[in-house]
Amino acid sequence: MRDIILLKLGEIVLKGLNRRSFEQKLMGNVRRRLLGLGNFRVSCLQSTVYVEPLDDEADLDAAFAAMQDVFGIVKISRAAACEKEKEAIARLAIAYLREDMLRAKSFKVESKRSDKSFPLTSIQLSQYVGGELAEAYPNCAVDVHEPELTVNVEIRDLAAYVHAAPVDGAGGLPVGSNGIAVSLLSGGIDSPVSTYMIARRGVRLIPVHFFSFPYTSQQAKEKVIELGKLLTAYCGNMTLEVVPFTHIQEEIRDKCPEEYFTLIMRRFMMRIAEEIARYNGGKAIVTGENLGQVASQTMEAMASTQAVTTLPVLQPLIGMDKEEIVRMARKIGTFETSILPYEDCCTVFTPRHPRTHPKLEDVEAAEAALAVDALVQEALQGREQIRL
Ligand code: ATP
Ligand code: MG
Repeated sequence: MRDIILLKLGEIVLKGLNRRSFEQKLMGNVRRRLLGLGNFRVSCLQSTVYVEPLDDEADLDAAFAAMQDVFGIVKISRAAACEKEKEAIARLAIAYLREDMLRAKSFKVESKRSDKSFPLTSIQLSQYVGGELAEAYPNCAVDVHEPELTVNVEIRDLAAYVHAAPVDGAGGLPVGSNGIAVSLLSGGIDSPVSTYMIARRGVRLIPVHFFSFPYTSQQAKEKVIELGKLLTAYCGNMTLEVVPFTHIQEEIRDKCPEEYFTLIMRRFMMRIAEEIARYNGGKAIVTGENLGQVASQTMEAMASTQAVTTLPVLQPLIGMDKEEIVRMARKIGTFETSILPYEDCCTVFTPRHPRTHPKLEDVEAAEAALAVDALVQEALQGREQIRL
């Protein structure tokens, strides 16, 4: 008999009519995440997804770790299995929950039966197992109203299962349940975090990177590919769009006033991102901007950047402090890659005195010497798609 993993669904249950399709999305994402870890059966019952190993090759520890990255799950528990007999269940609970029971001051047992042929009712089973546990652990009293520890017993078709305190899941909504967006992915600390945060809201993402070879090196591109790969643990499979940005930057350098370099460059990023979104049914552009962090992240600068697109620009980091962003980057595992020292295209032609409070009409005038549409089309045509 094999242990199983139970996944408690989060907000999905609030979605009423869509609930079924949310569950299907989540189960699809769970199955994809389990590929390569062995044979599992994934099923859903009463807002709980069950992950059951089907043979000894199935790596339950790896599956348990992988499930902690899947959005749409709030709690994850590992449940131990035994025969469907009350004595066996009580014995298992006493042994398996030893540490939890020794630590807690009070507990209760909650039972569920999906196998209705089991001879005891849920209440009878809870009372029996509760009685045996209370006897084995006199330190821990039964409290059915506000127990410190809840012991769960489930009678399913293959076996009976016992589990206690779950660990936290990644929360959010299942990727793919909330539309598609383009995410601007630089090699920095911020944009992997913003990508993660929007994926967590159920959005499937298309990462886009602007690449200024030879001003930025091949290694800078490899770093972005690596960041994209790290993000697939959360975002699912993605295709990175690498857009050649060198010609645009050279044109800006040659034909525009220096103090507007960064702003004009960012307007090109938005225009190109919008086109890529349209090809792919994307409905928003995600960036890692953070209010006041750099010259191009004042309200006026962002207004002039966003003026070129009608898509909503989602900036999940806008109100965070740098330390909070760094903490998140560490948590999701992108920080160490982000701090590798390769330059980004933004740093290549950085103006000495950037405009921090630009007027839109001045930015437009500064850009007037450029063949904007032709440059956008040229960049789009030259883009490279990399399956992550
Ligand atoms: P990050 O740490 O994400 O690089 P940042 O603090 O360096 O952000 P900026 O350089 O102003 O800020 O960039 C703001 C946002 O623009 C980034 O978070 C990212 O979403 C996008 N961006 C910047 N450079 C690129 C690039 N080369 N390719 C794709 N997106 C980019
Ligand atoms: Mg950057």
